[in-house]
Amino acid sequence: MISLAERLAATKAAISDECQRLQRELPTLIVVTKNHPVALAEELYSLGERNFGENRVQEAEPKASQLENLNDLNWHLIGQLQTNKVKQALTFTDVLHSLDRESLLAELVKRTSDRENPLDVFIQINLTDDPERGGVETSELMDFADKVAKFPSLNLLGIMAVASLETDARRDFEVVAKLSEKLVADHPSANQLSIGMSGDYLEALEFGATHLRIGTAITGNRQY
Ligand SMILES: *Cc1c(COP(=O)(O)O)cnc(C)c1O
Repeated sequence: MISLAERLAATKAAISDECQRLQRELPTLIVVTKNHPVALAEELYSLGERNFGENRVQEAEPKASQLENLNDLNWHLIGQLQTNKVKQALTFTDVLHSLDRESLLAELVKRTSDRENPLDVFIQINLTDDPERGGVETSELMDFADKVAKFPSLNLLGIMAVASLETDARRDFEVVAKLSEKLVADHPSANQLSIGMSGDYLEALEFGATHLRIGTAITGNRQY
């Protein structure tokens, strides 16, 4: 049996080797703890990890509240967010990776307007032909980004994407990298890229990932 510590160390070594080869900076590693008990997040914290990813508010909120006395812990919400869960999500979310539609933007604006620190957000884009997959159409990214950038209570970090399964991830990440260049031309600070999961994080590094969202490669198979 390989332990969590060993899988984490192996993954981090692979990331650091690839970054050295590409002569680029290390990305932020988000360990995706969804479908695992809070004890796994606690163990990861004790191993030095400080960024955790969850995709469901109803699972993440109790975990975050159980661990709220741990310092410097950041919760990344990476799954589709229903507007009626925004209020609850904002009680623990440090970074939202899945801003993907106008109705969600409107609700976020309403609920963040009196914040001291803006909420960090990524706009999720949809790289598939399937509208159910979540994410704005790539052709609508620029218009949507202009809208998001108008609100001082939101801090637009950049683009989040999930590679479509059918094709080579490199092709998808190339599309994302080009869109990112366009976005940065109009919004210079929105220069981050949340791309790369267990199966494609090395490719994502090649195309400029600043945030990797890695689950199973580190945690093993999800339990429920
Ligand atoms: C579950 C999930 C991940 C992690 O997936 P793995 O293949 O387990 O690394 C990354 N991003 C999103 C949006 C997810 O829902």
